[in-house]
Amino acid sequence: MSEDRRAFLRGIVRSAAGQGGAPPAAEPLGEADVERYSRQLVLPQWSERAQLALQDASVLVLGAGALGSPVAAYLAGAGVGRLGIVDSDDVEISNLHRQPLHFTPDVGVAKAHSAAAKLRFLNPDVIVEPYQARFAAAMLEGADLVVDCSDSFATRYEVNAACCAARVALVEGGVVGMSGLVMAIRPGESACYRCAFPEPPPPGTAPSCVEAGVLGPAAGVIGSLQALEALKLLAGLEGALLDAFLQVDLYDHAYLRVAVSRRAGCPDCGAL
Ligand SMILES: [Zn+2]
Repeated sequence: MSEDRRAFLRGIVRSAAGQGGAPPAAEPLGEADVERYSRQLVLPQWSERAQLALQDASVLVLGAGALGSPVAAYLAGAGVGRLGIVDSDDVEISNLHRQPLHFTPDVGVAKAHSAAAKLRFLNPDVIVEPYQARFAAAMLEGADLVVDCSDSFATRYEVNAACCAARVALVEGGVVGMSGLVMAIRPGESACYRCAFPEPPPPGTAPSCVEAGVLGPAAGVIGSLQALEALKLLAGLEGALLDAFLQVDLYDHAYLRVAVSRRAGCPDCGAL
């Protein structure tokens, strides 16, 4: 790196860290980090403090498939300190059109391990922990945030209840066909998934990707939105999708932000 470039990046970090009266970070970013993350550090909404908050964060990504691939890739790239990747399945050939962390030679490999290998290539500074397992509430120990990239309503409700009980922030998401949904949740502060959707859809009314199909880029858009919301929550940015969910129809580009409120009697978050 040239001296000019180094001085330019350092200047950006200093001026961003000073914004809003925030005290300077105790341990400033190293030179390699300033270079690696320069394009997000330069953002007026970002700062050295935001970057250090990310570096200290532990995030659990549930599912290393169509949503989990873009989520985990963007969080690793952005510099989240620790990423736990939870998936009990192996890579199948029919996954590859929409799960860009897995390649043809990975067929038959556990998805958690296949994903972890790519994420370590992407950013060796991130601690990546693969779990070839189904979600369990005990996995929330030490986690700052969960991104739910699972593909079943039963898991979504289970994860929501566990995150509320442990007061761990959550980003929900789902995609089928060419439409999807995203919602950010701070348990005890904003509406949870069950506040927004008190009951799962009746059996047979919500087709899965196996039945209804899904286009890869549609999953990519929803996963990218989940990663974006996760970064906002971790960095403490305003504008996170709290007390609302975003319903996205990518066939005709209809984006609907639906406001939701906490429910006093919610079995998951009502007592928080
Ligand atoms: Zn609730």
